Amino acid sequence: MKPVIALIGRPNVGKSTLFNRLTRSRDALVADLPGLTRDRHYGEGRVGERPFLVIDTGGFEPVAKEGIVHEMAKQTKQAVAEADVVIFIVDGRQGLTPHDKTITDYLRKSGRSVMLVVNKAEGMRYTSVTADFYELGMGDPYVISAAHGDGVADLVEEALDIA
Ligand code: GDP
Ligand code: MG
Repeated sequence: MKPVIALIGRPNVGKSTLFNRLTRSRDALVADLPGLTRDRHYGEGRVGERPFLVIDTGGFEPVAKEGIVHEMAKQTKQAVAEADVVIFIVDGRQGLTPHDKTITDYLRKSGRSVMLVVNKAEGMRYTSVTADFYELGMGDPYVISAAHGDGVADLVEEALDIA
């Protein structure tokens, strides 16, 4: 069985961009329109000789409902349940949001192995791009740029070590 990595995070943090990079496909819909990818989406990736499955999710409530308490979509819960390891993505340019905290609480309860990953970090210092996110209580975040590829291979190697 290939290890399964789920990409979780609120809309527009870069899940589909990372999915595309990991699967080198255009299967997942990447859009400037937040929340467009609404269904779970499976792909296959490989780092070195190590194959894995990755699930892109877009099942959170549309962005218009951000800021109010809401349930994570069933499909996203399913992806978490199926995952050997969860890559929880936050946006280093936007910083911490209440929605990120809601997701953190859910992931903590899920009992899954979770890696906190700050995306959109290209050209930014580690200390400044991560500062907001220590409040989530998940330790030192990983830092990547899904768009440029910085840190992505190392992240996946670590994820597979945990899986
Ligand atoms: P999703 O809703 O979480 O799937 O997010 P998308 O992958 O659709 O990306 C949302 C927006 O963020 C798009 O405009 C992407 O081009 C942009 N984006 C994704 N990754 C990065 C990154 O590493 N750096 C920057 N600057 N923008 C990014
Ligand atoms: Mg998406």
